[in-house]
Amino acid sequence: MIEYLKDTWLGLYTVLVGMKITFLHLFKPAVTIQYPEVKVELPERVRNRLYVNMDDCIGCDQCSRACPVNCISIETVKSVPGDDLGLTSQGKKKALWVTKFDIDIAKCCYCSLCVWPCPTDCIFMTDVYEFSEYNRNDLIYNFVTLTKEEIEQKKLNYQKFEEEKAAKKAAAPKPAPPPTDTGATN
Ligand code: SF4
Ligand code: SF4
Repeated sequence: MIEYLKDTWLGLYTVLVGMKITFLHLFKPAVTIQYPEVKVELPERVRNRLYVNMDDCIGCDQCSRACPVNCISIETVKSVPGDDLGLTSQGKKKALWVTKFDIDIAKCCYCSLCVWPCPTDCIFMTDVYEFSEYNRNDLIYNFVTLTKEEIEQKKLNYQKFEEEKAAKKAAAPKPAPPPTDTGATN
C-alpha cells in the first residue's frame, strides 16, 4: 500500500515539475514567429533574389564573367549609326542592345560577385526571398525589355550595316602602289 502511494505521489510530482516549466514559459517572450503572417526584419545587406534594372544596363558582361557558377547569360547586338539607346541614369552612353539577359536563380549561390563589378550599379540583391516554383524553368528570370521582333530587327540592322560597310570597302579605289625602286643610278 505504501509503495502504491509513493508511486502515485512520484507520478504527480513529475507532472507538477513538467507543468511548472510549461507555466514559466507562458511569461517568456516567444522565440518563434507566426510565419508567413509575421516576418522577421531582414538585415541591411541581406542577399536574396537578384534584380536587373535594364534601363541602366550597358551590356558590358562583367557580371556574367564574375559569376562563379555561370548562371547569368547575356547576349548583345552592336548599335548602328542612327540608333539612339540613350544614357544610363549615371550619364553613361549606351552602345549595345541587350538582346538576352537571363539569370538562372536556381543555380545562384547568392555570393554577390556579380553585383560588385557592375559599372552602373544596375544589378543588385533585393529583399525578396520567397520565390519557390513548381517548374524549375520558372526560376530562369528574363530581364530583357525588347520584344522578339525588336531583337530580330536589331540583329538584321547590324548585319545590314556590316554588309554595307564591307561592300563600300570593296568598292573603294585601291591606293596606287608605291613606285618601284629600279635601282638605276646617274
Ligand atoms: S550572386 Fe553569385 S552565383 Fe548568383 S548570379 Fe551573382 S555571381 Fe552568380
Ligand atoms: S555588369 Fe551591369 S551593366 Fe554590365 S551587363 Fe551586367 S548588369 Fe549590365
